[in-house]
Amino acid sequence: RTALAVSDLDLRIGGAHIIDDVSFEVAAGEMLGVIGPNGAGKTTLFNLISGVLRPSGGRVVLDDADVTRSPVDKRARAGLGRTFQTSSLFPELSVHENVRLAAQSRLGHVASFLRFPRRGDEASTIADRRLDEVGLSELADRDAAGLSHGDKRKLEIAMLLAQDADVMLLDEPMAGVGSADVPGLVEVIRHLHKDQGRTILMVEHHMDVVLGLVDRVAVMHHGRLLAIGSPDEVMSNELVQGAYLGEQL
Ligand code: ADP
Ligand code: MG
Ligand code: MG
Repeated sequence: RTALAVSDLDLRIGGAHIIDDVSFEVAAGEMLGVIGPNGAGKTTLFNLISGVLRPSGGRVVLDDADVTRSPVDKRARAGLGRTFQTSSLFPELSVHENVRLAAQSRLGHVASFLRFPRRGDEASTIADRRLDEVGLSELADRDAAGLSHGDKRKLEIAMLLAQDADVMLLDEPMAGVGSADVPGLVEVIRHLHKDQGRTILMVEHHMDVVLGLVDRVAVMHHGRLLAIGSPDEVMSNELVQGAYLGEQL
């Protein structure tokens, strides 16, 4: 089964061709690393897939449904979840409250900022389970603002889980995360992929993290898909090596 397919995707802004004829498919349960030099178009590609931006041309298909013209919330209900390069939490709310809000939106409930019963309602129960899955149960009552970068990333993943995201777009999950927290976060992502069979696209600059987790790698360069394939195929590709001249691979 193909979980996500993009075909002939194009984005032109002003005179700039920011995404240029990108096509690829991701199988259900597959994990795809998305790499490429700064400014290659990786985040923009995620914006097009998640519906933050509309393409100038081409299609985005989720599980056989063409969502190219669908708004972000409709794609989210279809199972697409996305994290951002910078944190997107409610810092003044607790860890549990953040996940509970995500669960409420999934359940179609009106998000309530007024009362957060710690236990009892369905969203609260979902939040408990999702925090347990990412190993944050003990921090449930802390303010989100006080978490380490690594725990904030785990919290964002718990929020995607609370939204029932089957296809997850993770944009630089290790950015800003202290090296001591990297292995724990890698383990959470590995669990989502290997044990839960979720479909994951991950933009990441830490190549050791990428190569240790993914099934295939896609390389973006100047808005184009330069190469896609197994880590070995991609890393030995001369076009890829050339694209990274002057940057660390
Ligand atoms: P990456 O995530 O690979 O570092 P981005 O997707 O953020 O790259 O950016 C790709 C290119 O598109 C960059 O040259 C960036 O300046 C440009 N870009 C991104 N968003 C916009 C926008 N809304 N308007 C104009 N240019 C943009
Ligand atoms: Mg960048
Ligand atoms: Mg980016």
